[in-house]
Amino acid sequence: MAAADSAPPTTFNALIRGVLGRCPRCGQGPLLHRYLKIVGECSSCGEPYGHFRADDAPPWLTILIVGHLIAPFFLLIEENFELTTATELAILLPLIIGLTLAVLPRCKGAILAVMWVTKAEGTEPG
Ligand SMILES: [Zn+2]
Repeated sequence: MAAADSAPPTTFNALIRGVLGRCPRCGQGPLLHRYLKIVGECSSCGEPYGHFRADDAPPWLTILIVGHLIAPFFLLIEENFELTTATELAILLPLIIGLTLAVLPRCKGAILAVMWVTKAEGTEPG
């Protein structure tokens, strides 16, 4: 509770806490549970998060990031190796799927942190 009673975090700190999956306000309690489900409220400071609706923003940001990470690798493979399509798929698909699964909760935490900082909480009741 001590962190919650102090001054609010800077936007950057709240964003980093969100990316790490922590409460943007106190940085202690988890922001997500069961992979992508938003907690109702922070277990540490009690900040309510259950009414936030990130909608399609986290997948959009994930596609943007993963696409930019994979595209150079894909071009490198295409230009330097003569692999069959099946071999390319065997290399790229696990990489794409793994990166997507790793990046998506980080993006959701970041979007939720931005929503919390800007007080863009959505219109649905908690
Ligand atoms: Zn908290």
